Amino acid sequence: MAETARRAFVVGHPIAHSRSPKIHGYWLAQLGIAGSYEAVDVAPADFAVFVKDLARNGFAGGNVTIPHKQAAFALAELRDKAAEAIGAVNTLWFEGGRLVGGNTDAHGFAANLDQHAPGWAANGPALVLGAGGAARAVIHACQQRGISEIRVVNRTLERAEELAHRFGPGISAHPLAAAPEFLPECGLLINTTSLGMHGNSEIPVDPSVMPDHAVVTDIVYVPLETPLLAAARARGLKTVDGLGMLLHQAVPGFQRWFGRRPQVTPELRAIIVADLGGGT
Ligand code: NAP
Repeated sequence: MAETARRAFVVGHPIAHSRSPKIHGYWLAQLGIAGSYEAVDVAPADFAVFVKDLARNGFAGGNVTIPHKQAAFALAELRDKAAEAIGAVNTLWFEGGRLVGGNTDAHGFAANLDQHAPGWAANGPALVLGAGGAARAVIHACQQRGISEIRVVNRTLERAEELAHRFGPGISAHPLAAAPEFLPECGLLINTTSLGMHGNSEIPVDPSVMPDHAVVTDIVYVPLETPLLAAARARGLKTVDGLGMLLHQAVPGFQRWFGRRPQVTPELRAIIVADLGGGT
């Protein structure tokens, strides 16, 4: 008897911009799995009902994006360690009939650096620019990999302080203006602010004063090479763009829903780069 095709989704509001259907569609085709992955636009008022009806509608699980990540956190019956640490859920699946919420952004961040800058976690102290949702995933990943000193700088100091409090000892909070004094001693610089996106040419900090072994990464991936990464590359530092984080964060969900662990291949990256308009 033929197995029923498994269904997965990405839910958000709006959702048309999401690259997730292209990523998962590539893996389904490549692995010859008769499943589907669809984008679903659900308004906040309807999200709880959407989640309640997941199993009845034949979904094995899916991804959750803006603005539903906190609601998914509250609705999940069980949560993984990363979701608990980060305070948001971006992946849902079922275990023994119970809805589990996970967060794969920290995995995506670390796996991207593992692939493109092996040994990165030995480069602490780390300087994190920004204190939004993505910064939480980055801090969790850095802590999991044993980076014991992390400086968080943010335009709104209170948000950085909130993260320092949340993630505990080793994390310090500072205003954005304090970044230049930390740069010479930091071997890892991570931009999690939206500065540098979509033709915004502002460089949040000047990486040229960082040590020679420093790794600079930006989680913004439109454009692929942000002004910060361009400045770091010009200085001769190792740079890693943010697209790999997006690709790698998709891996654990696919494995949960479809039972196979997919690969982040150069071909997949090229497909998404083309979809982004050649990386510009
Ligand atoms: P968020 O929660 O809205 O946080 C935005 C951060 O950017 C805050 O720290 C904010 O500072 C700062 N910021 C915004 N405009 C600024 C400006 N003009 N000057 C200085 N700081 C500014 O957003 P998020 O969810 O963390 O996402 C941040 C970025 O990461 C987005 O571009 C998103 O697309 C990207 N992202 C990429 C991936 C990936 O897979 N590569 C994953 C997640 C997110 P304040 O606190 O002062 O407002």
